[in-house]
Order: sequence, then C-alpha cells, then structure tokens
Amino acid sequence: MKVLKFGGTSVGTPERMRHVASLVRESGRNIVVLSAMSGTTNSLVEISDYLHKHNVPGAQETVNSLRQKYASVVDELYSHKNSKQRATEYLDRIFNFILRFTEGEFGLAEEKEILAQGELISTMLMQLYFEEIGVKSVLLPALEYMRITREGEPDMKFISSHLRRMVEIEPDAEVWLTQGYICRNDRGEVDNLRRGGSDYSASIIGAVLNLDEIQIWTDIDGMHTGDPRFVNNTRPVSRLHFEEAAELAYFGAKILHPTCVLPAKLHNIPVRLLNTLEPSAQGTTIANFAPDGTVKAVAAKDNVTAIKIKSGRMLLAYGFLHKVFEIFDNYHTAIDLMATSEVGVTVTIDDTRHLADIVDELKRFGTVSVDTDMTIICIVGDFAWDNGHDYCCQAVEALKPIPVRMISYGGSNYNISMLIKASDKVEALNLLNNKLF
Ligand code: ASP
Ligand code: MG
Repeated sequence: MKVLKFGGTSVGTPERMRHVASLVRESGRNIVVLSAMSGTTNSLVEISDYLHKHNVPGAQETVNSLRQKYASVVDELYSHKNSKQRATEYLDRIFNFILRFTEGEFGLAEEKEILAQGELISTMLMQLYFEEIGVKSVLLPALEYMRITREGEPDMKFISSHLRRMVEIEPDAEVWLTQGYICRNDRGEVDNLRRGGSDYSASIIGAVLNLDEIQIWTDIDGMHTGDPRFVNNTRPVSRLHFEEAAELAYFGAKILHPTCVLPAKLHNIPVRLLNTLEPSAQGTTIANFAPDGTVKAVAAKDNVTAIKIKSGRMLLAYGFLHKVFEIFDNYHTAIDLMATSEVGVTVTIDDTRHLADIVDELKRFGTVSVDTDMTIICIVGDFAWDNGHDYCCQAVEALKPIPVRMISYGGSNYNISMLIKASDKVEALNLLNNKLF
C-alpha cells in the first residue's frame, strides 16, 4: 500500500480533481492525502487576519468570495443533482461555522479552526465525487488520528495506533481519503503542521503505517537539476539520497517541504515526486541509497545575511566560538553556514529579526561587519572527500567571474555551499548548470 499526496494546484479546479480521481482509481488500494484547493488556505489566513483586527465586514467579504468560488466548483464537479445538493449543504455548514467567529473572542485557537476548513472541504468534495463515479472511498478524519506533542512534534505512537485501527476496520475500502496539514495538539485543540504541511502529513502516514512508498504529486516532473525559473535546460533528477533531498529542500528547492524528509528517511520509505500533468514520467525517487559520486542538483536560498566577527584580542581562543554561538542561541536565531579562520568567523542567518541586538552583543568580542542581500548557492550530490570527484574544483572554476564571499564544504558529504551577492544569483546558477550538468 502507498500514500499519495496531492497538493493545492493538483486539486485546484474541478477538472484537476476529476483527473486526480482517475489517477487514484488506477493506482490501486492506497491512502490519499489532499491539500486545500490552491488559494483557499491563503483566503482563510486573510479571513483570520480581518478577525484579529476586528474587521468583520472584511472577513465577511472574503468568506463570500470563497463561498462563490466553491459554489462554481460544486456546479462543475458533479453531474448528479443529489451530489450537488449534499456538497452545497456541507459547504453552507462550513461557511456558517466560519462566520460564527465574527462574534466573540478571536485568538490563535480560533484561527487554527478556520485554517483547517480548506482541507476538510477538499476531502469532502473528493469523497462525494468518488461516490458519484462508483468508487468506495473511506474517509480517515485527520483530526481523529493526527496529533502533535506539546513541543509541536508528531506524536508517532498515538498516530500509529489510531490510524492503524481506522484503516483496519474498513477492509473493503477501495481508497482511503484523508486531510493533509491539519491535526490536533496535546490539548486536543485543532492545530496544523504549518504552511505547506501536507507533505509532512503524507510522510508521517507512510512512516507510521510502514507503507511501500510516499508519493508527492505536484505539477512538475520531480526535483530538477536547477531552478527552472532561472535556468534553461534543467532536467529532472531521477534518484536522490534523503540527505541530498534534505539539503535541497532546505536550500530553496520548493518542490518538497523540508520537514517531510525525516519520517520517511527514519523509516526507510522511498519518497517519489510525481507530476499529475504527466503521470507516466519517471519523476524523482528519494531513498536511503542513490547513485554514488555524482552531482545531483543546484539550489539557491535568498535573503541571507552574513555576519563576520573578527577577533582582535583573543584570536580564536578556546571558548570564543562558544560565546559567539551563545548570543545567536539567546536570540533563537539559527545559523546556516559558517566559515572560520584563526582570526575570525563568518556565519549566515536568514532570520534577521534580532540582527541589531545580535550585532550589538557580538561587538564585545571583536569587530563585526554585516553583508545583507546575499544568496547561498548550494550544490548537492555525493561529495565524500575521498571518492575522487573534483566537483569542488569545477564549481569554483564555473564561478570564476563572480565574487564569492564564502565557501563551505565538508560539513556533510552532500553539499558545497557558496555565498554570493543576490544580484549575481541568476548568472551563478547558469554558470554552474553549464559546467556541472
Ligand atoms: N493547505 C496548506 C497550505 O496551503 C497545506 C498544504 O498545502 O500543504 O499551506
Ligand atoms: Mg504544498
């Protein structure tokens, strides 16, 4: 059995939903995870925003336009009057539920209730559609099994036992349908796995049920060697190691949510990235094994800030780095890359909310300078230092015309990172693509 996750654009129109239904039908007895239709979660965020600001008419207006959108979805999606009527009744209940939040207190807990509605709508629409075309689908309500701990981590034990039982009591289901993204927290309140979290849902489900495969269906044919928005002639990468995928997802490849990698990797379940528009294309398979000694892809991460601390007095004496890190720690600011020398250290961050305070405190230890508007270029592949490759050399050579602020290599076996000015990004990506692929 597999888990198939379809994202917002894959279910973004009635036509696409029908297409997904036929893909699902052909795929056999599997679990299907759906996101909200594209744009819906954003609208729900907007409604909540108005309610936080006590702007009831603003919220009502956004609810109304969402209502209209779904009215036409219902009209187009179903051919039977009965399905149309049932979907409309369900949607009325949902929108009336949302409108109830225009009265009374509105806080984070209420917002999360609203944000959950998009995924609930998607599965309801799909279930009715399956009924119409004669497929026996069984709904697995995510709010009954998907749970996070107080620390916000998935409660794997709880999820495993509850989900298993729910799947087992429906032995003659042809397909199981469930919502991505939504869950309950340790207090039993409705919560979510953060924006883009449906990939994570699929990965958790695949892991706890020990399924054969986790399929993430989007509208491009897998992870590409480069970012097609900036580079011509990219091609899909057929196989990636989990470690490589983690580097790529974090460093800007938008196709897979970074958190999605971990449960799959730990439980050794392959993740396949597939294209709804070209279902027979090979896509990308991510697993605990992948071709050795090859370069797989290049990604870029924008909005990076580099901070250099040059230590005058202490040089890089014992304890210097500890003090530097402690400051970042105190401000809950994660460091991405770093490079050290005997007299200084440069680190990069992307969360600059506490930059001024951090710089202020760092000044106790040395001279501090900051470079903003930087981009990390991340070259990913199997780069174990002793496997005879010369990718590092090729990458440096490719970037000859571009000033490189910092290089990081050897932190893991899987990446070479270079820090450049954001304005050099497109050129750098193209130069690397031409040289490495
Ligand atoms: N609907 C949610 C979002 O837009 C979750 C997802 O699509 O993965 O963030
Ligand atoms: Mg998504």
